[in-house]
Amino acid sequence: MTAIVLKDTLTGETSRRPVAGVFMAIGHRPNSDLVRDWVELDPAGYIRTHREVRTTRRGVFACGDVQDTEYRQAISAAGSGCMAAIQAERYLAALEAGAEVEW
Ligand SMILES: Cc1cc2nc3c(=O)[nH]c(=O)nc-3n(C[C@H](O)[C@H](O)[C@H](O)COP(=O)(O)OP(=O)(O)OC[C@H]3O[C@@H](n4cnc5c(N)ncnc54)[C@H](O)[C@@H]3O)c2cc1C
Repeated sequence: MTAIVLKDTLTGETSRRPVAGVFMAIGHRPNSDLVRDWVELDPAGYIRTHREVRTTRRGVFACGDVQDTEYRQAISAAGSGCMAAIQAERYLAALEAGAEVEW
């Protein structure tokens, strides 16, 4: 990698700029195919959640980039993963105790 060629999309003029490396913007498609037929997705493919990590299917929690249309950062993904794990544990414990589980 030695340079990039830039094109002005208004004038069509091109210029050359020396660079040592390039980061490609690859876009973002939520990897939600696995649960597509199970839980509701938004038009862009993100898993719809309410009350933070609850999906539209009772007992199924979602976290991380696959349900985050706003931040999509490692720390927010990890945080929501923690929330989903805690909620899943509470959900299972309530079921086991025969308690009413609000969704
Ligand atoms: C180029 C780039 C740079 C970034 N830089 C930063 C940064 O500087 N700081 C920051 O905070 N964040 C950064 N991020 C964002 C960060 O990487 C994500 O927010 C974070 O990794 C999301 O974590 P996640 O667990 O939700 O998803 P992922 O890390 O994508 O993990 C999902 C996992 O599920 C697996 N998987 C998918 N489908 C299936 C399936 N059907 N069966 C089994 N496994 C499956 C995948 O292989 C993957 O391992 C960057 C992202 C990119 C792409």
